[in-house]
Amino acid sequence: MKTKFRKRLGIEPPPMPAPVPLPPPPEAGEVHPGRYPQHADPAKGQVFGGLCNRTACGERRAVWWNVMTHGFYCRTCANGINDRLDQPPICIRVEKKPTFNEMNELQHGWNRGEPQAAQSQ
Ligand SMILES: [Zn+2]
Repeated sequence: MKTKFRKRLGIEPPPMPAPVPLPPPPEAGEVHPGRYPQHADPAKGQVFGGLCNRTACGERRAVWWNVMTHGFYCRTCANGINDRLDQPPICIRVEKKPTFNEMNELQHGWNRGEPQAAQSQ
């Protein structure tokens, strides 16, 4: 019997719906759809001064913005990431969470090799 007939007859269970991700908390402000990774905890790495974005890190006080992953990192992780790259710093100290437009400006500025020009304060 063909699959579509089995479905029509109700022999096959319907496919499970995809899990709906939890919405980010209000204190997360604007959240970039391209953020990485997309944690099960929607606040992780998205709140200024909150939990570090690195999966294995549970540190708080994350105030270093990674212009490529669009997330906040603690000082230790931010320094580690910056030290590994032989390029301009990818994690920058910010005073507040960038807006969505600022996130894109920061990323594009870094891609152009001009992180300072786009750095928000
Ligand atoms: Zn960390």
